[in-house]
Amino acid sequence: MAWRIVNLLLFLAVTGYAFYLFGLAVYRRYSYLRLGQPYDFRRRHRERLRSFVGEVFGQRKLLKDRKSGIMHLVLFYGFIILQFGALDLIVKGLTGGGHLPLPAYDVFGLLQELTVLAVLAAVGYAAFRRYGEKLPRLKRGWKPSVVLHFIAGLMVSVLLTLAFERVWTGQPPSPLAPVSSGIAAGLAALSESAAKAGFYVCWWLHLLVLLAFLVYVPQSKHFHILTAPVNIWLRRPETVGRLSRLDLENEAAESFGAGTVEAFTQKQMLDFYACVECGRCTNACPASGTGKTLSPMHLIVKLRDHLTEKGAAITSRSPWVPSFAFAGAGEGAHAVVAAEVAGVPWETAEGITDIRPTLAWQQASWKKRDALATEVELIGGVVTEDEIWACTTCRNCEDQCPVGNEHVDKIVDLRRHLVLMQGRLPPGAQRAMQNIERQGNPWGLSRNERDGWTRDSGDVRVPTVREEPDFEYLFFVGSMGSYDPRTRKVTRAFVRLLAEAGVRFAILGNEERNSGDTPRRLGNELLFQQLCAENIAAFRKYGVRRIVTIDPHAYNTLKNEYPDFGLEGVEVLHHTELLDRLVRSGRLKPRHVVNERVVYHDSCYLGRYNNVYDAPRNLLRAIPGVELVEMKRNRENGMCCGAGGGRMWMEETSGKRVNLARIEQALETSPTVIGSACPYCLTMMEDGVKLAGADERAKARDVAELLAQSVFGD
Ligand code: SF4
Ligand code: SF4
Repeated sequence: MAWRIVNLLLFLAVTGYAFYLFGLAVYRRYSYLRLGQPYDFRRRHRERLRSFVGEVFGQRKLLKDRKSGIMHLVLFYGFIILQFGALDLIVKGLTGGGHLPLPAYDVFGLLQELTVLAVLAAVGYAAFRRYGEKLPRLKRGWKPSVVLHFIAGLMVSVLLTLAFERVWTGQPPSPLAPVSSGIAAGLAALSESAAKAGFYVCWWLHLLVLLAFLVYVPQSKHFHILTAPVNIWLRRPETVGRLSRLDLENEAAESFGAGTVEAFTQKQMLDFYACVECGRCTNACPASGTGKTLSPMHLIVKLRDHLTEKGAAITSRSPWVPSFAFAGAGEGAHAVVAAEVAGVPWETAEGITDIRPTLAWQQASWKKRDALATEVELIGGVVTEDEIWACTTCRNCEDQCPVGNEHVDKIVDLRRHLVLMQGRLPPGAQRAMQNIERQGNPWGLSRNERDGWTRDSGDVRVPTVREEPDFEYLFFVGSMGSYDPRTRKVTRAFVRLLAEAGVRFAILGNEERNSGDTPRRLGNELLFQQLCAENIAAFRKYGVRRIVTIDPHAYNTLKNEYPDFGLEGVEVLHHTELLDRLVRSGRLKPRHVVNERVVYHDSCYLGRYNNVYDAPRNLLRAIPGVELVEMKRNRENGMCCGAGGGRMWMEETSGKRVNLARIEQALETSPTVIGSACPYCLTMMEDGVKLAGADERAKARDVAELLAQSVFGD
């Protein structure tokens, strides 16, 4: 009896202390998070429920990598089931052999033992993925592996505790306790008191590992166990392609964009603490895969390290507990010293894409320095300008992320600060921006020549909204469609198809402005808002109700971003969506055979941003003679062409060209045509085919061009 009281008091003291440390570690991180900009966490909870259930309980994102996904599924549900087992084990130790008063307790015991075995198998497989298969995206070393030891320790101590209990209390072997019965058979020679001692040693071992894990969780990437579900629940409810609106009229604002870590919102900061460092984002990133310095995982991890260190300095509260175990941990601060490491060692790369050189650069450049965290600059000290400008805003990272992190909004916030506060951006981007400011197009061609392409539209009449006020669709031609000679061919093919189908359409002509997508992705919110306001004014003036465009970037910004600035009740379509409708309704008849093997490249702004995957494929399938094939990376996981996020206008000097990598992926399918539905992709594919020396065997075509060939037979 006395032992039980001592045991209970010890249990209460140790458990209470562990929970206190856990609470302290969580609270301190919460206090750092509060340094961020306020965020309305209460918005539209009901709409979040479905994605929350799918991603947290269905582990939908994790299952994109089936093997790792199943492993994580076992761990996730295993841990939920084992919570009841842990409770039962505590009752056993405190009561000296009792248990939870559950019906069918033996079946409960069997479920626990089988779950323990499944979790052990999952831990073994996780170790194999990291150290056997050596997946490049997974970090190796003691820190990333410590959780595997924790979990294995917990599982083994459960089984040993149960086995010692059987010997101590004289329970016969049972088929409903196969593992503990088996181990107990090996311990049968022990006396009752020795078995009891063994029970309590293992019971305490289990408890101590469990409590140590509890304290460790918020101080490590395993904080995601708590933060990931919260992060998924609190995800921005806006459409994915919509960047946040900057209030440029706010006279009280001292700065725009993110120039310090505190300039991020509290939700963006929650992303930092939700990251589990799984590397799925980096694995999919076209920049990381082609030898640029940017790695979306490291972007998040570096921001987290910086926030923790700077938060600790500002609040004077150390993130590390218990303090006696972390003497000296608060000295120095992480920072990038890019000059200390040469560029990404791309010459070591293998295959079409390879993330390892970028990972090596990240690992070598992010180190603790003899510096104060409050003195480390966000731009330059934590994230370099090279990293910031390397992003194509393709959202492949976000689409892969199992904890709902968003990378693009952070990168654009960093760009906004560089552009709006410091006037810094790469020369090519600067030129494009100035040209858009002056002439409304990135080349600086005359704004009065925006409708110049109509002079060469053959016998198709292309009316302006003034000439044809009774139009049904406004054809928003976009800068590429209006000025770029190659894209003009797509524009002409499209208007020819519209005329053939009898669609009443009109253009704004020289009253059309650049959509603003490029300035916005480059961080120039001011220019974007001006262009957006001018376009909306024109739409209102001419009573526009439906818009169609051949440019997925314009499509995305018109459809998802203009509503933030007052565009209401206007349907926005991509040309493939409208053409698909016209073919289905019989208004367009693809009747001539087009003997081509077509591999379709998904535009990020059409696919991942707007979920338009089927319309272009339907059109290709409708063309007689076309054999549609797919690349390994297609649809949601399609790799970017390298032109998004304003990259179209910048030099690509390091690593391998993204469009070359994408073309090599396309050429693996032996196509005669690389099909696309975006003028930026078309340009990149055409350049890529030449770079790959494959222009003799494959050509790049827009889906509308192929359809026109089939409809008109020329
Ligand atoms: S948006 Fe694309 S390029 Fe940018 S970090 Fe994510 S995956 Fe990489
Ligand atoms: S940001 Fe998301 S995908 Fe990237 S490492 Fe973190 S959890 Fe994984």
